[in-house]
Amino acid sequence: MVKIVIIGAGVIGSSVARELSRFKADITVLEKCFDVSEGTSKANSGIVHAGHDATNGTLKAKFNCLGNAMFDRVSKELDFPFKRNGAFVLCFDEHCKEEINRLYQNGLKNGVKDLQILDGDNARKIEPNLSPNVVYALYAPTSGIVSPYEMTLAYAQNAYKNGVKFCMGVEAINIVKNQNNFEIICQNGERFLADIIVNCAGLFADEINNSVNIKKFKITARRGEYVLMDKVCKGLVNSTIFQLPTKMGKGVLVTPTTHGNILVGPTAYDIEDKSDVDTTPQGLSEVYTKGKISVPVLNKRYIITQFSGNRAHESSERDFIIGWAQKGFYNIAGIDSPGLSAAPAIAVYAAEQISQEYSLGLNASFDPIRKDIPHLNEMNEEERAALIAKNPLYAKIVCRCENVSEGEIIDSIRTPLGAKDLDGVKRRTRAGMGRCQSGFCSPRVMEILSKELNIPLTEITKDSRKSNVTIGEVNK
Ligand SMILES: Cc1cc2nc3c(=O)[nH]c(=O)nc-3n(C[C@H](O)[C@H](O)[C@H](O)COP(=O)(O)OP(=O)(O)OC[C@H]3O[C@@H](n4cnc5c(N)ncnc54)[C@H](O)[C@@H]3O)c2cc1C
Repeated sequence: MVKIVIIGAGVIGSSVARELSRFKADITVLEKCFDVSEGTSKANSGIVHAGHDATNGTLKAKFNCLGNAMFDRVSKELDFPFKRNGAFVLCFDEHCKEEINRLYQNGLKNGVKDLQILDGDNARKIEPNLSPNVVYALYAPTSGIVSPYEMTLAYAQNAYKNGVKFCMGVEAINIVKNQNNFEIICQNGERFLADIIVNCAGLFADEINNSVNIKKFKITARRGEYVLMDKVCKGLVNSTIFQLPTKMGKGVLVTPTTHGNILVGPTAYDIEDKSDVDTTPQGLSEVYTKGKISVPVLNKRYIITQFSGNRAHESSERDFIIGWAQKGFYNIAGIDSPGLSAAPAIAVYAAEQISQEYSLGLNASFDPIRKDIPHLNEMNEEERAALIAKNPLYAKIVCRCENVSEGEIIDSIRTPLGAKDLDGVKRRTRAGMGRCQSGFCSPRVMEILSKELNIPLTEITKDSRKSNVTIGEVNK
């Protein structure tokens, strides 16, 4: 059987793994972190862009539009949160109308449906909290919002269900080309043979490519900082509110999240250390100030946390790099924005190219359906009662902000590709996502993790980094 090794379990690696699992092949995903979606795919705006922004004729435009159209189907098949909430691009003076027109025309060329240019009053009829200074707005009703880490996990779990192996905590550090295949050497000493390598290593895809291919490229990390606002702000805006794009990206947006918070950001600054996801007082101040230009009623006192994510920016191609670099080596690199929106379509395209090149047969037992664990806070009273009747642990609320029970936390650990740390539980259940930011629930979640994983409390970490929460025991 043809051996395929995918490097990286972000949204690209996970969606490619799922689409490739439709075919007969021996597929392994190598991920250097201990969970899927620990790279850029967990920290972004979560927007399924309509497709008016990406330059016509580019891969970004093509896959953004194809991907956007697939979200209704894949979010149902894979049971992850997605909503088509629409988006505005705002224009604050007459001079900007030309740029709004350019975006509108570019969107039409890209095939984006239902685009409209509205005047300020008509825009405010849909979004009453928009600034009174808005004179025009491009309205894109097909834009959507998605939970990016839940989408990634859903793709990965479906791939796993269809036979893909996931090797977590395994970092590829070198690739050797043999006569007929490749050997991937990993930091822990493991070696993997592959007929095909699919490079989905995000910010580090340049290192993977450059280790074995003649054509080199360089990826720069472009950091974006955000602030997240409490759910009491729900309804402040229902659509995603952009300002006009700049040469560094799509600018600062104000958007609802799929779980009812308001997200404001991101900044855009190139940084040296690709792994540096620090947040700064300057970042907070910049996004808050810019967000208030669009939605003046934003109020700083409702900020509950800050975070940042790094875009994998490739400056020479200025486009996604997708395709064969040499026989057996397939790149999906330079996937900065709109990579999340494009992921479903990129994955289908890459899987088709690979399966055709290697004449892979169909996997007759492929099952496209994945079901998420139950979430109490999405259920009505009767559904909750039925769940609790089956297992009383669903009645033991651990995270009071987000209403998450012990039963759900245990599910999130026991589920395939389950949580191994506090952030893993948080991404799967929302325990710790609320106003107190895990101040109350984290000791209890740590106890559950410790019991379920059968490891001492002192070994429980926040995430894949060496981020132990406790350093020892007192009064033993
Ligand atoms: C601030 C910001 C906002 C954005 N907003 C949007 C948006 O609203 N809409 C949108 O469509 N897109 C958006 N994007 C882009 C989108 O987030 C990315 O395109 C997408 O997440 C990239 O996914 P990926 O799988 O390529 O990368 P990643 O998620 O980074 O995955 C790569 C994985 O490879 C692993 N890895 C790396 N090197 C190795 C190795 N040597 N061995 C093993 N594993 C390795 C990493 O640990 C990581 O898990 C945004 C990005 C940022 C930063």
